[in-house]
Amino acid sequence: MELERNLENIAQMAKVKEKENSSFQSYLKNQDTDKIDAIAHRLNDEITALIDCTECGNCCQNLRPIATNEELRVFVEPQNIEKFKYLEGFQCKNLKDKKCTIYTTRPEVCRLYPFLDRDKFITRTYGVLQNYEHCPIVFNVFELLKIELGWCVENTSVK
Ligand code: SF4
Ligand code: SF4
Repeated sequence: MELERNLENIAQMAKVKEKENSSFQSYLKNQDTDKIDAIAHRLNDEITALIDCTECGNCCQNLRPIATNEELRVFVEPQNIEKFKYLEGFQCKNLKDKKCTIYTTRPEVCRLYPFLDRDKFITRTYGVLQNYEHCPIVFNVFELLKIELGWCVENTSVK
């Protein structure tokens, strides 16, 4: 599979593959946790090495509100907090020309994103799919996972 890096294509395919992904999500629930974690972690390492986040920055342009106003202050100017709290996605104030201006001191949540090195992948697919439409790393890992597992949409009721 050729890696997909085009953000418009990824957003488009996320819509087209909505039912397919939901079916794959159900399939994953019955798989061996450790086996899926091992594959997902390896794919994450491989794909992350091939995708340049400084050419993307899409996660920083599609933030979802997080719990407290104090936490939001890191990403939003104080006067805009109430406005951004109710949006589905917004751009972080620290992003300039697709680059993080506080990269070396960025919050831990930014360092951990897109969280694919965590365990128990099969219990976290809801969150993974939320990031799938925005993040080329997540998109490609999820698609390659289908291939590695030999999962085929033709064998499901989706089609
Ligand atoms: S602090 Fe930096 S890495 Fe985190 S969301 Fe903002 S721009 Fe992105
Ligand atoms: S983590 Fe994903 S969405 Fe964020 S910059 Fe890297 S490839 Fe883009």
